[in-house]
Amino acid sequence: MDTIVLKFGGSSVSDNLNLNIVAQKIIEFKQKGNNVICVVSAQGKMTDNLIKEAKELSAIPDERELDALLSTGEQISASKLAILLNMLGYKAISLTGWQAGILTNSEYQSSKILDINVSRINKELQENKIVVITGFQGVDKKNNITTLGRGGSDTTAVAVAAAIKAKHCYIFSDVDGIYTADPRDVKLAHKLNSISYEEMSYISGEGAKVLHDRCVELAEKYNMPIIAASTFNKNKGTKICNSEQMKKSENSVESHDKSNMEETIIKSIIKNDNIIYIEIENYDNPYNLITTLVENNIKIGQYFIKNTKIAFTINKIDRAKVQKILDEIDKETKVIPVTKISIVGSGISNHTEIIKNVLESFYDIKNDIIDIDISACKISVLFNKITDIKYLNELHNKIIEKN
Ligand code: ASP
Ligand code: MG
Repeated sequence: MDTIVLKFGGSSVSDNLNLNIVAQKIIEFKQKGNNVICVVSAQGKMTDNLIKEAKELSAIPDERELDALLSTGEQISASKLAILLNMLGYKAISLTGWQAGILTNSEYQSSKILDINVSRINKELQENKIVVITGFQGVDKKNNITTLGRGGSDTTAVAVAAAIKAKHCYIFSDVDGIYTADPRDVKLAHKLNSISYEEMSYISGEGAKVLHDRCVELAEKYNMPIIAASTFNKNKGTKICNSEQMKKSENSVESHDKSNMEETIIKSIIKNDNIIYIEIENYDNPYNLITTLVENNIKIGQYFIKNTKIAFTINKIDRAKVQKILDEIDKETKVIPVTKISIVGSGISNHTEIIKNVLESFYDIKNDIIDIDISACKISVLFNKITDIKYLNELHNKIIEKN
């Protein structure tokens, strides 16, 4: 009997109507004779709302208590789903992160999974139950509730799948796979049949909101294939796997999938508006500042140091934490809104012709360029904030459609 993990995102479990759609999907997998584990996110915008409410009480809420609060969102969706499945005649049980044996470190709001003790999950599966696990959370060695960081339910799903040695981990959302660009912005973006772990981790890392970047890292480490698909239709999704598995799925390629009809190097264009660029002048100890930021768990994108000038990018989500550190050094700081556009494709830096085309297309976007970064799998350019998304369609047309 195969075990499969099915993860459902916030919009998939947003209300009773959608929970019924999710339940039918789960039942289909169960009826095929699989052991089924589900991992769920909080309903709709629940996590955003809980954060907002906490911040109404305190500008910088106590980190431990914030995690205790945020973890309740997933508990609501998991228990509701289990109530529904039981009513529909399928034995189901919801488990919180700690009931499911998920042990994490103690970094509140961005904890890492250290280990999963799967004995409880296995016991419930042996009793033929559908196990519904709350995503995004665990417990540390001291029994404190922790959360894994925004979007972390994907990571829970892959970690559980790896620990239980599942066959596949499905990640269901309202988008039916991984596209050559965000289909909400670019009408002609097309879905990829399959993509390697490496490329997917760049796509997530550069800020595409499809999958949590840590879930892709874990999937690669444990070679756990992910299938990204839609809750709301039966379209074939995108398989994220190693190159051997990719070749297999290429043989069953859908005809519209360009990525498998020819050796396409460029896989996806990612636009990231969720970063800010901070500049500080006349600061004697710029390296110290970088160390302090890293020690405080702040993810720094690019950074530049020249004499006493320092500039770096951070995720908008860390803004308050960074501000607190900057207030202490008491220097004038300039905060600039930026847009980062990245082109991802394995081995891209070996193809000078492609780099030339991409850069020329970038120069056509008549906006100030702050930085260009080329590495083995990506080219990314940091612009002063771009508001008109027309350029994305043009860029897609030039570098993906015409290739
Ligand atoms: N509910 C959490 C969030 O909104 C985790 C998740 O959805 O993956 O970030
Ligand atoms: Mg998500």
